[in-house]
Amino acid sequence: MEPDLSTARGFALEALEQMHQRAIKPTPENFAVWYGYAADSPPAVRRAMQILISNNMEFSPEVLSDLYERFYGGMKHTERIRSLAQQIEAAMTGVLGTLGNAGQGVRQFGETLDHTAKDLLAGNPLDSVRAIIMQVMDETRDMIERSDVLERQLTQTTEEIGELRKQVEDASREAQTDALTGIGNRKSFDLQMKRCMQEAMEQGTELTLLLIDIDHFKNFNDAYGHQFGDLVLKLVARAMVEGIKGRDQAARYGGEEFAILLPDTDLQDAATVAEHLRETIGNKAITNRETKQNFGVVTISVGVSAYRLGEPPYVFIERADASLYRAKQSGRNRVMTELELGEKTGEPVMPLEQDI
Ligand code: GH3
Ligand code: MG
Ligand code: MG
Repeated sequence: MEPDLSTARGFALEALEQMHQRAIKPTPENFAVWYGYAADSPPAVRRAMQILISNNMEFSPEVLSDLYERFYGGMKHTERIRSLAQQIEAAMTGVLGTLGNAGQGVRQFGETLDHTAKDLLAGNPLDSVRAIIMQVMDETRDMIERSDVLERQLTQTTEEIGELRKQVEDASREAQTDALTGIGNRKSFDLQMKRCMQEAMEQGTELTLLLIDIDHFKNFNDAYGHQFGDLVLKLVARAMVEGIKGRDQAARYGGEEFAILLPDTDLQDAATVAEHLRETIGNKAITNRETKQNFGVVTISVGVSAYRLGEPPYVFIERADASLYRAKQSGRNRVMTELELGEKTGEPVMPLEQDI
């Protein structure tokens, strides 16, 4: 529900005060975040921020920009979906209008019947009974016609809405699918990350992340061509989809990197999933079915991290990335978890690149 003027003004003042106390620049984006905090709307913003406050975490520009992106961002991408939603709304308004008219018609018909019955009961002579029956028949015919029109309109609108709904589904699926491999793309990963983090925060469940990078992928491209490289990407994506289950979600994170989010899974189990994937992929020789040419094996390196409640996504991703980097450095074709990062666990090791 929209707050009234003075309540909204109160939220705005509190947002400004909070920013002032923390020496945060009152930019429109920061204001949106702190207004959300003050208004407790959406509730997840305030919860996320309270966790940060209770962990004494600084509201750095990166953290604030992450909060903004997480809770208010991504809106520009949904323009098409919004316009489809508007069309659905317009169609629904049309249906409601028609139903309103139909209701009016039924009422009128009912009133006519009522009067007629009264007239009949008043003991009219026979010829006026005939006139009354004719009138009832006229009204009935009108009523049937109106019902037919209504039915046609409703059928047409239902079809239109069905088509629009399909378009909405197609548009959002397309926007989140990687065209080459058919699995989720980076956008889909970002959205899943948001959802999974929210769930972990709300339910206190574990959440782990695998970052997967194909080893020496450039060599495949160089030796057998880009198209062959594409084929390898498809094979790896398929092996990943087959190697996960339930609510686990695989996405293409970038060029030859993939990410898998494992809700409700701890670090050890995530490492087991990763190890299993590594073995499955690495044990399959790639051969041409017709020429029997052997292209060798594809191996992957995997970095695994576990979400810590309250941290922004880039820090969570950064630990998986640092573990992946460590796996590469230690010889590739292996799984490394954040536990193997040593002292610097939790500290971003490389410059932060992720801006989700
Ligand atoms: P490393 O083991 O260190 O990961 O080595 P690498 O060769 O896999 O890594 P590098 O980052 O040097 O090369 C990645 C290559 O992936 C370079 C790029 O051309 C290729 N690549 C990225 N996206 C695609 C794609 O969509 N199709 C194909 N065929 N190649 C791609
Ligand atoms: Mg890479
Ligand atoms: Mg690679």
